[in-house]
Amino acid sequence: MVEIIDSTDDPGTGGEGDQPANEASESTGTAGGLAVRFPDVIGQERITTALGRSLRNGRVPHAMLFLGDDGVGKEATALDFARALLCRGKAGEKPCEQCADCAKTRQLQHPNLKILFPLPTPKESSDDDAAGEEYTAAQQRKIDEVLAAKRNDYYAPLEVQGGREIVLEHIRTLRREFAKTSYSGEYRVVLISAADRLRVQAANAFLKLLEEPPGGAVFILTSSRESRLLATIISRCQTFRFSPLPTQLLERALIERRNVATDAAATAARLAGGSWMQAREWAEGDPGRKMEQVVGVFRVLYKYDPGKIDELVDQLSTGAAAKELPVLLELMSIWLRDVQRFDADPERYAHLGRDASLSRFAQVCAGRDFARAVEEIEQARLDIERYVQPGLVMHQLLVRIATLLFDHGPLVVSR
Ligand SMILES: [Zn+2]
Repeated sequence: MVEIIDSTDDPGTGGEGDQPANEASESTGTAGGLAVRFPDVIGQERITTALGRSLRNGRVPHAMLFLGDDGVGKEATALDFARALLCRGKAGEKPCEQCADCAKTRQLQHPNLKILFPLPTPKESSDDDAAGEEYTAAQQRKIDEVLAAKRNDYYAPLEVQGGREIVLEHIRTLRREFAKTSYSGEYRVVLISAADRLRVQAANAFLKLLEEPPGGAVFILTSSRESRLLATIISRCQTFRFSPLPTQLLERALIERRNVATDAAATAARLAGGSWMQAREWAEGDPGRKMEQVVGVFRVLYKYDPGKIDELVDQLSTGAAAKELPVLLELMSIWLRDVQRFDADPERYAHLGRDASLSRFAQVCAGRDFARAVEEIEQARLDIERYVQPGLVMHQLLVRIATLLFDHGPLVVSR
């Protein structure tokens, strides 16, 4: 029987930040005298609670599938849980951070913790040398770097350039190792990152392991592309669905974990789409300055001086700026949604320091067709993705938006 644990009813889910932020999952209760901690994980309480309970009850599933978007904490949860499973400390919480196992798992270097992720297909190994020289020195260095980054930060992606699939030979090695060592009552955890990249042969080899799970084996598979997973794999795992992280939770995590300034954290969190990694990227990229640029675009449209619009189009769609157009367009949509919602909840924007310009635009554009404007922006984004000339796309878009929002009639361009 496959039970599905869903985190979609976490408070505040959906990235809108209307709900109070959650505490990081420090503890998941102490029933049975044992607290299972997930110190690296942001949010996802429903899942961490369920996992903690399974450990306390001695009913940890043999195979789990963690589904959800990139950056929401699937691997961080898997690794913290692996650490709890492998901890042999006597203290009342796991991971205890005191025992020898905890020291090893922290570094992701425990003999009972295996981590598989998509890697380049190794060159054919010669007869006398099955292991050790699968990859060139440069490739191996890249792989080591990715693992080192993961040790420092459980949210870091396990992505190596050219890493297309979970390598069949590595699954075989795993099977051999399981066969070689006898079960001594301890858990043996295997994390398979991006399990959708188990291709047929590797998947079949892996299924044999799943069908007759070795003693103590706990397989944790993660994927952000559910539709590409093999049905045979899904059906043998207990599924856990990770939701996007609520905006306020991201905002607070940026401030507390990354020392991001309050304003930048608020903006970055809103742009992140529920992903901790995206929130961090936005925070590093000065989101406040980009939002200012967006407000500037709408100011030009409001004044509607054709010369200024041409100038703006040139500025936005040539050189390095052209590469930033998709981001700019996304921010324009977000800005329009903010304007639209402003009257309903002005308080919410006060802390962003953008309430003055939002309030002005909300007055000027009252009753206009925002939904249509957002659709136009989305269409422009698609056109640019399809390599339609960006200058042309932007000119049409800006004129349309000026018409829709500010009622500047005569310059309407028909597509
Ligand atoms: Zn320990």
